[in-house]
Amino acid sequence: MSIKKIPVRYLKGVGEKKAASLERKFGIKSVYDLLYYLPCDWNVVKNISELTEGHKQTAKVRVDDTSCGTAGYSMVFFQASVSDSTGKAIAVWFKYHNRNYDPLATLKKYIVPGVSMVITGSVQCKEFWLKKMNVQEFEIFPADSPQNILGPVRQFYPLQEGFKNNFFRKIIAEALKKYSGSIDEIIPEKYLREYSLLKIADAVKNIHFPESPGLKDEARKRLAFDEFLNLELKLELLRKQRKCRKKDFRYNMTKELLTPFRQHLPFEFTAAQTRVINEIFENLNDEYPMNRLLQGDVGSGKTVVALSCSLLAIESGFQVVLLAPTEILAEQHMLTFKKMLEGLPVTIELFIGKMKPKKKSELKKRIAVSVSNIVIGTHALLEEDIKFKNLSLVVIDEQQKFGVEQRLNMKKKSPFASVDLLMMTATPIPRTLALTLYGDLDVSTIDELPPGRVPVKTLRMTEQDAYNFAREKIKKGEQVFIVYPLVDESDKTDLKSAVREAEKLKKNEFREYSVGLIHGRLKPEEKDSIMSDFAAKKYDVLISTTVIEVGIDVPSATTMIIEHSDRYGLATLHQLRGRIGRGSRESHCILLGEPKTENSKRRLKVLMSTTDGFRIAEEDLFIRGQGEFFGTAQSGLPLFKAGNIITDIEILKMAKTLAEKIVRNETPLLERMIREDLKDYYNIVLAEV
Ligand code: ADP
Ligand code: MG
Repeated sequence: MSIKKIPVRYLKGVGEKKAASLERKFGIKSVYDLLYYLPCDWNVVKNISELTEGHKQTAKVRVDDTSCGTAGYSMVFFQASVSDSTGKAIAVWFKYHNRNYDPLATLKKYIVPGVSMVITGSVQCKEFWLKKMNVQEFEIFPADSPQNILGPVRQFYPLQEGFKNNFFRKIIAEALKKYSGSIDEIIPEKYLREYSLLKIADAVKNIHFPESPGLKDEARKRLAFDEFLNLELKLELLRKQRKCRKKDFRYNMTKELLTPFRQHLPFEFTAAQTRVINEIFENLNDEYPMNRLLQGDVGSGKTVVALSCSLLAIESGFQVVLLAPTEILAEQHMLTFKKMLEGLPVTIELFIGKMKPKKKSELKKRIAVSVSNIVIGTHALLEEDIKFKNLSLVVIDEQQKFGVEQRLNMKKKSPFASVDLLMMTATPIPRTLALTLYGDLDVSTIDELPPGRVPVKTLRMTEQDAYNFAREKIKKGEQVFIVYPLVDESDKTDLKSAVREAEKLKKNEFREYSVGLIHGRLKPEEKDSIMSDFAAKKYDVLISTTVIEVGIDVPSATTMIIEHSDRYGLATLHQLRGRIGRGSRESHCILLGEPKTENSKRRLKVLMSTTDGFRIAEEDLFIRGQGEFFGTAQSGLPLFKAGNIITDIEILKMAKTLAEKIVRNETPLLERMIREDLKDYYNIVLAEV
């Protein structure tokens, strides 16, 4: 029987109650779950002579003598003189004094001269001859137990109340004794050799009870490999699946639009733009639908890339949709497109929520008969019952703001079985990760900014200096953002609220200037009109929360003051900073607030030292760790238990290589490997294809 089907209840030492709380607290139901409940830490078991000053060390010792005493008013202690062949030490346990029972009773009963035990705790070396351990955890072995009962490494588990390491050690040892023969190997021998991997049964044994520190690392590598392989197989399969459904339309590049467009462009494409345009065109001309992520830092010029792709579709006689997350951004795209396509026979329409119903229904008609070549819209476009005559390309700007269903919904408005999809984002994830984790997406990266951009200077100063600085800029006709973390007063924290501060700044520091306020509680139309007013220079200063994070281009906004900058994540700070530095004038981002934690210090240091979005994304990943990174930024990706996508990138790459091989040539093996979760998987992910 598969160990996934054997309840832990059947193991010696697991009663009914324990089994219930193992399930409730740790999600452990089967023997399989238990064996894959991995330690979070390991200690090499030392000799007494090897113990050094410091916390959490482990030694195996023999008890020579014991005594008890009181320590101050409220504590009692139990003390054992211990030794091994290399020396002597003192082991101490402190307990709170208690009138009703003897807190040392258990210790007195079991820790007697002659027994062997393993102790873990912090060590003090008062004099060179006296080592003292404050014991946090111990396990006793009978005096006559065999020499090798204990391995050279001691493991520790993530615990919860009512559970001790010794309990996990005991039941896992039990499970291994009984069932290690039933742990199925899924990777064939030849691949184990090729990638230098342990057999799975050895890996599981050695992750819990390592025969040596080196084997523990090998074990972790194997388990991480399995996790990554599982993911990569699915992604590879998805990619393959997509590649075998041909498009029911094809493009025909006549260049009758593309050539004049390029000739009228007020600038040359950067090398990176040219490269990604070629990548995308090749993909569009392919017989399979495109599913591509275009990542490029804020200001890297993704819009003209999207426009070029749109023209290829339009000159081939098809329609294009550009989805934007906000109305203001949609309107801005509309203006950009109109300007860049001036004189060309291309009809561009805007479809946004605030338009009158009559206007909307007219538009729908035009779209249905293909009078409109490009439709730029917001979520409003998704909600409407619209049928396109011949929509072939969907471009999604700031794609992280749209969900999977919304993308699907958009595709359904096309008469074709599938459409080409270009998703754009300025929130990059590190390149290697993008390639390995988004295996089912093709990725194009613009890794260069247009020439002549003056990089934003990022600095810290006092609040008053920052306001003075801003006033000087305003006098020169430039505009200023001031960013606050919150909309309302919060009684829990001492954050200044944007609303209250706006009032203060209006009356004091910026009383001679016009000050606007924008925050998340406003209606979308209100936000949009304030942003437009700011872009039209009706305000000198815009006070805002992070709602300005995405999209908008205001070239004369050259200064951004970020209050409480220590409280934001790196990605948010980088996005915010991307709102300035969009013109030819030098821009400044001023960080206010005192970083208190190590992480916030590091974040601000990174931000001041670079404007490279990819480096920032990498640092962000390191600082936040994989859990939070995936918890918030990207959804739908699994959390790994053994593997760590930050530090195990090499293992991840190996797993991807093997996944490609298996999907290409080893169908029976593939089926065996992913049989179990194939069904769920198809339901969720294939729906997207
Ligand atoms: P993002 O990638 O953040 O969407 P945009 O597409 O809005 O960036 O481009 C930012 C600005 O850079 C726009 O004003 C755009 O016209 C300009 N731009 C784009 N490509 C180039 C280029 N190759 N040379 C000069 N300016 C460019
Ligand atoms: Mg953009």
